[in-house]
Amino acid sequence: MPTYADIILPLAVPGTFTYEVPEPACGRVQPGMRVVVAFGKGRKLYSGMVLCKHDQPPAGRSPQPVLEVLDEHPVATPAQLQLWQTISEHYLCTLGEVMVAALPSALVLSSNTRLVAAPGSSPAWTGDNRRDILLDALEQRHELSLQEAGQLIGLKNPMPVIKQLMNAGALQMAEELEPAWKPRLQQYVVLGPEAQGETALHGWFDSLERAPKQLHLLMRYIELSRCLTDDPREVRREELLKRSGATAAELKRLCERKVFALEERAAGVPAEGRVGKPAVLSQAQRQALTDIQAAFTSRPTVLLHGVTASGKTEVYMELVQEVLDQGRQVLYLLPEIALTTQIIGRLRARFGGRVAVFHSRLSQRERTELWMQLLHDPGSHPVVVGARSALFLPFQRLGLVIVDEEHDPSYKQHDPSPRYNARDMAVVLAGLHGAKTLLGSATPCMESLYNARHGKYGFASLRVRYGDAVLPAIVKVDLAEMHKKRKMRGSFSEPLATALELALSRKEQAIIFRNRRGYAPAWQCDTCGWIPECAHCDVSLTYHKSDHGLRCHYCGRGYAPPECCAACGSTRLRMVGLGTEKVEEELALLLPEARIARMDQDTTRGKHGLQRLLDRFGQGDIDILVGTQMVTKGLDFHQVTLVGILNADSLMRFPDLRSHERAFQLMAQVAGRSGRKHDPGTVFIQGRDIHHPIIDLVARHDVDGMYARELPLREAHFYPPFSRMVRMVLKHRDATRVQASAQALAEALKPALGDRVLGPEPPPVARVRDKHLRVVLLKLSRTAYRSEKQHLADTLDRLFAEPPHRAVQVQVDVDPL
Ligand code: ADP
Ligand code: ZN
Ligand code: ZN
Repeated sequence: MPTYADIILPLAVPGTFTYEVPEPACGRVQPGMRVVVAFGKGRKLYSGMVLCKHDQPPAGRSPQPVLEVLDEHPVATPAQLQLWQTISEHYLCTLGEVMVAALPSALVLSSNTRLVAAPGSSPAWTGDNRRDILLDALEQRHELSLQEAGQLIGLKNPMPVIKQLMNAGALQMAEELEPAWKPRLQQYVVLGPEAQGETALHGWFDSLERAPKQLHLLMRYIELSRCLTDDPREVRREELLKRSGATAAELKRLCERKVFALEERAAGVPAEGRVGKPAVLSQAQRQALTDIQAAFTSRPTVLLHGVTASGKTEVYMELVQEVLDQGRQVLYLLPEIALTTQIIGRLRARFGGRVAVFHSRLSQRERTELWMQLLHDPGSHPVVVGARSALFLPFQRLGLVIVDEEHDPSYKQHDPSPRYNARDMAVVLAGLHGAKTLLGSATPCMESLYNARHGKYGFASLRVRYGDAVLPAIVKVDLAEMHKKRKMRGSFSEPLATALELALSRKEQAIIFRNRRGYAPAWQCDTCGWIPECAHCDVSLTYHKSDHGLRCHYCGRGYAPPECCAACGSTRLRMVGLGTEKVEEELALLLPEARIARMDQDTTRGKHGLQRLLDRFGQGDIDILVGTQMVTKGLDFHQVTLVGILNADSLMRFPDLRSHERAFQLMAQVAGRSGRKHDPGTVFIQGRDIHHPIIDLVARHDVDGMYARELPLREAHFYPPFSRMVRMVLKHRDATRVQASAQALAEALKPALGDRVLGPEPPPVARVRDKHLRVVLLKLSRTAYRSEKQHLADTLDRLFAEPPHRAVQVQVDVDPL
């Protein structure tokens, strides 16, 4: 009896495709193995993945054969295939799209996959004509696509030949050759073998008396490293030289005398084995830990609400330890790569090399390596720290998923499809493994709070900061009043400016938050009000002073600043609004002494841009950090005692159901960057609408109050958590066409959903890259969710399969943010 396999192809085509598995491979093929098949009119070659094997021939057509089986063992586990299916069903996307997002691209073969000669292999002629042709071509052209390889040797299916050459080590896929991502290395100074312990140090104080410069260097080191206290810190070589004024020769001399030793390691990663002992939990932390453990006995998912700097990470680490002791794996998710690099140091200090990192800045080779390691040796890295894509790794003994900063919108992937939320899919993933999920945040999202209040999730809280620290004091500054009393210095009110001066004089650090990048969000004609807009998008252009140009933040195009108004010819153009670049410039004038840096998309490009900035701030080389919402993320700095939020109003004015929740989270989170161990810190919130209830709630650090205020509003409008939303964006070059299709879609859905269909409406920016946009929003009931979504899927399939709607592009976003 012939065997068939349902194959997932790496394409945005719905469903799977049934192929026949030829005789010799039948027994070998298993779900999760990659196979090569031809697909589509051009019979292009793809590597697909076997979803299942069966004996049902496809109805109504004779199946194509599987051309080659690429793997000896599955590269994806049954649980992974199940997760992909859930994601595809939940987010209304194709299995192929999920697979492409999930697999490291080195594991996906397509006609475009590039083949290169393996490094170091000189083409040893094989005597086989076809193989030699390929090797010859590679020597001349460096790389070939799979498609080209097939054409060269005149075979529809070049795979057997290619595979032989791969097995012989003669050629490779180009993705496998990307340079490995290397952490930036730093040199650290540690005490050498001759200077361990207080007695040894005292001995050196005496014997260095006649070498006062070396003695000074040693004293300075002890001071900087706090090595005689129970709160030691690491000292970089550069930092020590700078702060002590010593020369490299003096340092070298002390290294020779074994007072010091130099260590080179990745920035922020403590020496292995040196630290390693767990922190002693405070009473509050122990209570939270017990509450979490108790909640887990009855519920698989628990929400931990812990205020900023309450020591959530230490509680997580206790749970990690427990799971490791059971021989199971932990996935530790963070919304930002920057946060993964900060936390990795703490985890490695405790769990050593058992901790692996996974995120999109790793090279394809590193991603594939970790994937394969987890597949073949799940014990090699039982703790994986990662950004959202770590969800897709092949876990086999998962015991716990931690989702830190669970409220963070960065967990949601916007583009391309699958538009998944890693927080929500983490719960699904844990469910597939019988594992637990811990969601943690200082500002949990409405959905999670709702689930916790209604018993779907367990709940635990940490309401005090660790140690003696208290939450920062919040000062509200009324901008209207300040303007009236002429107490403004540019965009800074006098109280904030004074506080900045004070912090600077005390050598403390400050963060200024402004949620707009660039210099000025718009230019405007003083005479007629004309504003330059992007020629391809309906949005005003942002001025960037650094390159003296206007830029579209939607399509990225740059424009030369106009010299006169395009409408009336007036030359009186002025800049309106305030961006981070301008804030930075104003600060430099206000505080000429201060070392200021800016953290936004424009300053953190490049592989290490962000990390370098964070390192500098962490080491005290920057006094004031100005930035967009990037500065609100859960970064942990010890010297920040002042936070300024400029123009708080602009955070609350977005026309969005979540704008108040989001404004609360952003302000509370950035406020949480202020104050740590010994100083509670201060937060200045500047705004015109300073008596807005949301600002009051931030001032009181009142998450419960925010929830109590928002919930009735959500209920009244049947918004989440009471409903589940689906947002559809339709795109077409012709405004009339897209409007008509959006109208037709809304009409088609109304009989079943009634007034739970909103729109069509143009979004705030209604044209992007020359395409006109329309939005249709749905509020699906939580109880009839499945059937309503199925109805939506059917309607979309039906409506957009035929002209005239077929030409319109539809993006479906389930649970949009
Ligand atoms: P959160 O994740 O809640 O913001 P962290 O876990 O980062 O808080 O803790 C804040 C600070 O307090 C960190 O510098 C951490 O090292 C310190 N800390 C927390 N708990 C302990 C503990 N039990 N012992 C020593 N230091 C702790
Ligand atoms: Zn004008
Ligand atoms: Zn544009």
